[in-house]
Amino acid sequence: MPKRLRLEKRLSRSLFIVLLHYLFCVSFLSSSTVPFLDQYRRRRYIGTTHFLLVVIVRIMQNLFQKNQNQNTSIDRIRALNGRSNDKHRRIGNRRTTRTKKNANNNSSSSSSSRRRTESSSALASSSSSSSTPKTDDDEEKTIVVVGAGWAGWGAAKALSEANVKVILLDGLSDPTGRTKDVTESGKPFEAGVRGFWKDYPNIYNLVTEYLKLREEDVFTEYTRSSFYSPDGLEATAPVFAGADLLLPSPLGQVFATFDNFKRLPIQDRASMIGLLYAVVDLNRNEKVFEKYDRATAHELFAKTGVSKRLVDDFLKPTLLVGLFKPPEELSAAVTMELLYYYALAHQDSFDVRWIKSKSIAEMIVAPMAEKLQKEHDLDVRGGCFVKSLNFKNGDKSRVDSITYFDTKLKKEIDIDCVDGVVLALGAKGLKQVISKSPDLAKNAPELTAASSLGAIDVCSVRLWLDKYVATDTPANVFSRFDALRGAGGTFFMLDQNQKDSENELWGNKDPRGSVVACDFYNSSSIATLSDEDIVKTLMNELLPECVEAFRDANVVDSCVRRYPQAVSHFSPGSFSKRPPLQTSIDNVVCAGDWVRLGDREFGAKGLCQERAFVTGIEAANELVFKTFGKAASEAKKHPVIPIRADELQVVLSTAVNKRVLEGVDDMLSVFSDGAFNVFGFR
Ligand SMILES: Cc1cc2nc3c(=O)[nH]c(=O)nc-3n(C[C@H](O)[C@H](O)[C@H](O)COP(=O)(O)OP(=O)(O)OC[C@H]3O[C@@H](n4cnc5c(N)ncnc54)[C@H](O)[C@@H]3O)c2cc1C
Repeated sequence: MPKRLRLEKRLSRSLFIVLLHYLFCVSFLSSSTVPFLDQYRRRRYIGTTHFLLVVIVRIMQNLFQKNQNQNTSIDRIRALNGRSNDKHRRIGNRRTTRTKKNANNNSSSSSSSRRRTESSSALASSSSSSSTPKTDDDEEKTIVVVGAGWAGWGAAKALSEANVKVILLDGLSDPTGRTKDVTESGKPFEAGVRGFWKDYPNIYNLVTEYLKLREEDVFTEYTRSSFYSPDGLEATAPVFAGADLLLPSPLGQVFATFDNFKRLPIQDRASMIGLLYAVVDLNRNEKVFEKYDRATAHELFAKTGVSKRLVDDFLKPTLLVGLFKPPEELSAAVTMELLYYYALAHQDSFDVRWIKSKSIAEMIVAPMAEKLQKEHDLDVRGGCFVKSLNFKNGDKSRVDSITYFDTKLKKEIDIDCVDGVVLALGAKGLKQVISKSPDLAKNAPELTAASSLGAIDVCSVRLWLDKYVATDTPANVFSRFDALRGAGGTFFMLDQNQKDSENELWGNKDPRGSVVACDFYNSSSIATLSDEDIVKTLMNELLPECVEAFRDANVVDSCVRRYPQAVSHFSPGSFSKRPPLQTSIDNVVCAGDWVRLGDREFGAKGLCQERAFVTGIEAANELVFKTFGKAASEAKKHPVIPIRADELQVVLSTAVNKRVLEGVDDMLSVFSDGAFNVFGFR
């Protein structure tokens, strides 16, 4: 037997024994009814057993992690090998196509030589009849990706690399990120400051491996974040990157953040413990997950004994900036997924960093778009609002054409004979498309259901000040301020995050002071104020309440922008209505942070760029599978890098809980639907 296996076996045995001791300690020794040990010895016994437990769990976790990493790297190497083979194949194919093009009298645009035809709607019927016949050649497949957010780009990249002709449509005037978004006075603006957390492996891989950029040129260091309330500084989230010893979760977080909470009493913090059980229980089976989903996060907090103070001072503001709604309007299931992924999975899960200069669009999207356009002829069309997906004659199993409104040409255009469609839209976009596509609405009831879901308003503000304001941390959260009018709020000191390119923050003029980016989430109420009043609210009420020095600063320039229904709302009971990856229509798939991935479910959760990007890749993989069949699609599949494995204590507790409660489920199935829920959710 290999040495490692022997060690693992021995450790498992020791863990089991220490665990028994520990249970014995907790159940009997802590009670004063046991006379044979004095208080001092009893404490020492419990302490030593606890210490041993932590050490063994830690060693096993390291072993487990090593195994996982080994497996993951093997998978990655296999996947990358697969891709490099694919690349050789693709180069061959492209040559064939070029020859074909040359034979076709050197037709300059590949699209003109395609069977696909495009026309203004007046010509739609005649143009479809002029389509060239279908061939099985890879390059003849045309797939339209609707929406160029992270999900749309994930799909466009995966499909382009699978040798498919891709048309990417978005209502934004330039979705390639090449055109700078500037204010009226020529200063840069970006809709919302978005963080990159520790577990965003696919985005980091895109940046370093695909775009060959250096992480330190694109992202800041991981930064600390502060939470402010009307009482002052409430808490600071630390950074764990580079720490010598990471403890098992959640012990690590508890110990390491002991001094970081300035006001919240320890007993309130300890009341979080009940939620740990919900984490373990949440994914026991689909029915249990749906029960958690139907409950609100507020109900879950109450039932698990979380204190009101912890909810009001910490959880509510965190959810308002994490899922953009208060706990009473959020699904308990998605809330637990979010808390686990961003805070509980590993001690350093909450480590977050930001874009180091310019914007995400300029730093990541623009080079990605350029590479895909250069290497794969990706066709990106901005200012194009998709109106409808259309079926051909009686065939309701496949979408055959797409109609969009081109705001530059000011006319409707049809793309005929499409082989597949990726709907990488949020709820608002999907609603617009479904309302104009009666056949799609009729034949894909799941899309109609998804389009009935709500979305959340966001409002972003940038302030250019005449003085530098020093803050403890560059990223900050507003908590419990009446002036927020029910919104969640954050403020970011861009002069700190982007200090190497400060001139650019001022539109390439001399910097005069701090540049502050403030975002309001769930902003319907505060967004009704005028721009001037929003700026006043920030400068007179919110910012100086957090950091006094803002009182001495004046606004040199400002910009306020509103984004109605910009992000997914994970409301209670919404899970079953969220769009599935594969729709009822054979050649239509969905992508986006709100999409249910089924058996392709991925570790990144909630409103999350990494999740959106991965759903795009998976939607493309699904469409490639549908288009080319199992054998051919294997080689074309875009790899997805998994999130770090769960820690051993989570794996063990989940397994034990599952085993015990499935027994209970079996017993109860005689009387009910067989999904027992400890907290009594229906
Ligand atoms: C203010 C703010 C702060 C955030 N902070 C973070 C953060 O810190 N970290 C993080 O990971 N995530 C953050 N997020 C969430 C993250 O940005 C999203 O989860 C992610 O971008 C969703 O990507 P998507 O592709 O699914 O959707 P979207 O980005 O919404 O893309 C959908 C696209 O579809 C287009 N579209 C809509 N309708 C049509 C139509 N009819 N025709 C053509 N195109 C259409 C839209 O123009 C849009 O470009 C934040 C979001 C916001 C708004």
